[in-house]
Amino acid sequence: MPRGDEYVSPQSGMPSFFTSHHMPCPECGASVSAFEHDQHACDPARLLEFRLFQLRDEVHGFEAGLRDYLASPHGRFSQWLAERERKHEPGGR
Ligand SMILES: [Zn+2]
Repeated sequence: MPRGDEYVSPQSGMPSFFTSHHMPCPECGASVSAFEHDQHACDPARLLEFRLFQLRDEVHGFEAGLRDYLASPHGRFSQWLAERERKHEPGGR
């Protein structure tokens, strides 16, 4: 059965999602419409703020992860291992 040529998709003509779709800029987090994406230039102040925000998030995650890790048997083992390696450091003649 041939496809009917009379079928017209509701989105035909103006791709309306192009004009209304906003995405956060991956660089600065600003909400940029897909339409403007090509012309978007990151605001340096915004860029810095966004980076700091991401960094702070990472640091928090790292600290929490480290605390959990050190409290775990694995962490305690590696601490013990580190102590041991420090004592057996080569060059201590
Ligand atoms: Zn940006």
